[in-house]
Amino acid sequence: MNKIDVRGLAFDNLTVEETLETLLGRLRAGEQTALFTPNAEIVQACVDDPSLYPIIGSADVLIPDGIGVVKAARILGTPLKEKVAGVVIGEKLAAALAEEEGQSLFLLGGKPQVAETAACRLTEKYPGLSIAGVHDGYFQKEGPENEAVLEEIRKSGASVVYVCLGAPAQEKWIYANRAALPDVRILAGLGGSVDIYAGTAKRAPKIFIRLGLEWFYRLLREPKRIGRMMNLPKFYFGTWRYKLRGNKEK
Ligand code: UDP
Repeated sequence: MNKIDVRGLAFDNLTVEETLETLLGRLRAGEQTALFTPNAEIVQACVDDPSLYPIIGSADVLIPDGIGVVKAARILGTPLKEKVAGVVIGEKLAAALAEEEGQSLFLLGGKPQVAETAACRLTEKYPGLSIAGVHDGYFQKEGPENEAVLEEIRKSGASVVYVCLGAPAQEKWIYANRAALPDVRILAGLGGSVDIYAGTAKRAPKIFIRLGLEWFYRLLREPKRIGRMMNLPKFYFGTWRYKLRGNKEK
């Protein structure tokens, strides 16, 4: 597959439709897939804490969920085809699963009740979709509580799990636990998508998305994100420096 390096992470250069086809191809072939969808904040988090590289880099499918990563690829002279929002892939994959024989989805993450509501709304929208189970995201991510969640997922027989614990917690969780879920074919780190499917959060209006300003809409809705977003100027500045160094951090 065509990979594009952005600050030490190898992104798959896929459109939304190609990403979906890749996931379904791997699902049908019985290959386990970890799908991660980092935005610029997460790429910057890797630069600031290099111990995150092997975790984020362990994805089998790595797509840019943010205009910042797409712009950085352009700055580096190796453009990515497009932003591929995790929330869109999650929705399209749910629609596709509804048409597939013998596949079922487990929703993990979000505040109590959110995953249940998301499951109801997704099955209303895609009647053929089989929900294997749901669990909120507020449990100890190691030890007995975590083991109980793993057992619940195994018992559910789910072939696909949406892991919505926020980044990079969800990527760490998938990295640490995928081997304990050998029958799960797709583990997708999808951040706040569960809130969107449940209707407890809304995506930006289309005009913001089209203008590449979804991040700005999110900042207006959740001003406490300003601290995280201050990483963006650092990310762009660092990308120019990375380019001048011949695609190296140091
Ligand atoms: N969350 C969770 N468990 C936690 C912390 C967060 O399930 O221990 C959920 C939270 O309820 C929300 C999602 O993770 O549904 C994080 O959403 P956010 O939009 O912050 O995602 P990010 O931008 O960090 O990927």
